[in-house]
Amino acid sequence: FQVPAVDNEPMYNYAPGSPERRKLQDALVEMRSQMPFEVPCIVNGEKIFTKDTLNQPLPFDHKTTLASFHNADKNLVEKAIEGALKAKPAWEAMPYNDRAAIFLKAADLLAHKYRYKVMAATMLGQGKNAWQAEIDAAAELADFWRFNTQYATDIYSQQPTKNAPLTWNRMEYRALEGFVVAYSPFNFTAIGGNLVGAPVLMGNVCIWKPSPTGLYSSYLVYEILKEAGLPDGVIQFVPGDAHVVTDATFEHPEFAGFHFTGSTHVFKHLWQRIGNNINTYKSYPRIVGETGGKNMHFLHKSADAKHAALQTVRSAFEYNGQKCSACSRVYVPDNLWEEYKTELVAQTKQIKQGPVDDFTNFMSSVINKQSFDKIKGYLSDIASGKTPNSSILVGGKCDDSVGYTIEPTVVLATDPKAKTMVDELFGPVVTVYVYPADKYEEYLEIADKTSAYALTCGLFAQDREAVIVGSNKLRNAAGNFYINDKSTGAVVGQQAFGGGRASGTNDKAGSSLNLLRWVSPRTIKESF
Ligand code: GLU
Repeated sequence: FQVPAVDNEPMYNYAPGSPERRKLQDALVEMRSQMPFEVPCIVNGEKIFTKDTLNQPLPFDHKTTLASFHNADKNLVEKAIEGALKAKPAWEAMPYNDRAAIFLKAADLLAHKYRYKVMAATMLGQGKNAWQAEIDAAAELADFWRFNTQYATDIYSQQPTKNAPLTWNRMEYRALEGFVVAYSPFNFTAIGGNLVGAPVLMGNVCIWKPSPTGLYSSYLVYEILKEAGLPDGVIQFVPGDAHVVTDATFEHPEFAGFHFTGSTHVFKHLWQRIGNNINTYKSYPRIVGETGGKNMHFLHKSADAKHAALQTVRSAFEYNGQKCSACSRVYVPDNLWEEYKTELVAQTKQIKQGPVDDFTNFMSSVINKQSFDKIKGYLSDIASGKTPNSSILVGGKCDDSVGYTIEPTVVLATDPKAKTMVDELFGPVVTVYVYPADKYEEYLEIADKTSAYALTCGLFAQDREAVIVGSNKLRNAAGNFYINDKSTGAVVGQQAFGGGRASGTNDKAGSSLNLLRWVSPRTIKESF
């Protein structure tokens, strides 16, 4: 197999007056003038308006609706499964180069034709600023689709190297027998495109339930794949109530795989359900999931405190703290505390917050009321003294009158196991604990044991020995480990993404390890 060499999608800086900024602003104006959009389910290529609708509001202006989407009912999901299974033989039999071409074309359509539209949908619907939308909906999504074609090619070319006389051994990388189910999150448009894209590239068919709060951009992603040549039925786009979609798909004998990004408790619950149904299925379903995080930045006494503070602000507050990889707890040695604190507070206070169409706003609002209420609950308990050993150093205001707006907030904890050092809030709140600088190893161990999660980690140290010690002690504390860098911002093709422990199955999105989960290899020996 030969596919063209790929590179990361170039990113623009959207500087004032630049043509790219103008194009993006035009796309935002156009989208605002046309919304609300009506989004159907798509089954066997047919748009189906079920009339059971839900709205996707703008998180930073929740009285305004971006899209109204139609939910699938049980019958429609069943029809989607049937249609996908019908579409599968032809899809799996399609030469790999032609399957790859669809994804390479989709990446180019995204980058060159629909970039600003998908970015605008991600900005308005999910509350990302221009740069965060660019990283996600333009660059990362195009990168997933392009790099996966390389990884798949590597997999297919892995063949037995020995053949006894008069024999030929080979490996056939079949798709899974049955269908794959993908549940995508709101926080990355790119993740949805990969949750369906990875199994489908390997010849599978997929039932896709996008998140209701990331709905419109997911729909655009589907439309791009279709325009690129994806045959009808290969991906069935079925927004819907999670119970309805789960009941129909997880009870089906041909359920062959689950590709998930979302919350830990949902993943565990669904995993249990798969376990309970194991005798229903033809084969053992592949379960691949990425869930939450309680990611740390850990500073050694030799760290560059100013640099670490700036990286903390970026990691904790970019996209309103709603990346699974966001830093939400920090361990600072007492010798660096003053310098670190001064920078952290100054940078945090500078952050401008508001609607995403105003490019001077770094942050907007959290995704919905449920998230707002949860974070507000934690912050009010700290402010009122109900939560022990914690105080608010900067920020803390919550206001949902227009948008679900939470100020970027730094909590100071005097106990390393204080509530917000442990719980995942999924919002713009970071908790800092100051430890005695000479107890580095002891606190590395405490940090390792503080959270059930193990997604990302940033270790800051100039001293090489400290880097080695920290890296070893935190060996299992993160699937993505950054040295002198923030815990967010994995780039496809450079840092494959995923974590262990409660954070997921660590099947590394954007790598051949992930694609391998979507094949069921057949060993073939032919005697001559
Ligand atoms: N890959 C993203 C990053 O490295 C995070 C993805 C997520 O939030 O699930 O920041």
